[in-house]
Amino acid sequence: MTEKYDLHCHSNASDGVLSPRELVIRAKNKGVTTLSLTDHDTTDGLNEAQLVAQDQGIRLIPGIELSVTWQNKTLHIIGLNINPDNQALSEGIKNLQILRQDRAEKIAKKLAHKKVIGALEAVEKSAGKGMITRTHFADFLLEKQLVNSQQDAFDKYLGKGKPAFVATEWTDMETAISLILQSGGLPIIAHPLRYKLTASWMRRLLSAFKELGGVAIEVVTGRSNPDEIAIAGKYAKDFQLSGSVGSDFHSPNNVWVELGRLANLPADIKPVWNLLP
Ligand code: AMP
Ligand code: MN
Ligand code: MN
Ligand code: MN
Repeated sequence: MTEKYDLHCHSNASDGVLSPRELVIRAKNKGVTTLSLTDHDTTDGLNEAQLVAQDQGIRLIPGIELSVTWQNKTLHIIGLNINPDNQALSEGIKNLQILRQDRAEKIAKKLAHKKVIGALEAVEKSAGKGMITRTHFADFLLEKQLVNSQQDAFDKYLGKGKPAFVATEWTDMETAISLILQSGGLPIIAHPLRYKLTASWMRRLLSAFKELGGVAIEVVTGRSNPDEIAIAGKYAKDFQLSGSVGSDFHSPNNVWVELGRLANLPADIKPVWNLLP
């Protein structure tokens, strides 16, 4: 059987639509053989995912996607194969969870100033026990027909510099990497080209990341085109980092991104899964 890796996706423990159970079953049906569930700043979905994965005969690698502030920029760092029971990690993410709740309240206030009422109640309801993310706000605005797509919600309200944007100081990169390493995980920079960094900022980022113990960057994501794969691949090689592949799947409604639907990692890039035990 050919191996198919997908090392980045979301369940309803954060801003994914599917439960961990539904997600694992869908991955299995899409031919994924190794899946990592990487919810934003929480490990809450991992238990259920692991149980279902065992049942379904698919390999589940416990993961997380940490929100990081580095040089005033928000970055996402994946921890692959973390131990969710590690105390340093679970303590460390509590702080991010408080920041998320706090930011949600501030976003709701800003929306109220724009005559959009009831956002906090709505996102608390839709997130349930899970993390509240801007995706939840986007869906609320969409439901209220104030925007015509998630993208539109970011463009009009939630994106940087827009009326309901709340700048947040997430965890710093050193702490994030250290928490991942302490819990036995591999630190990976998620979707490196999405931060719109210049080449020199990207080099600064990658050398700092590597210096602090980072091991890989995502070279292939669900929406990468061949040029982007080549650019990210070159960064991986230049900085002697391994390459990861992950769809960043959130919802079956997004027809552009599917579990396991990923280009191959270029043959000259060291796969991050070779670093797994
Ligand atoms: P947060 O971490 O709460 O700020 O939310 C970030 C999440 O919002 C990301 O993980 C994406 O799932 C989603 N997101 C960010 N930017 C956009 C965008 N322009 N359009 C749609 N979804 C977005
Ligand atoms: Mn997300
Ligand atoms: Mn991300
Ligand atoms: Mn993600």
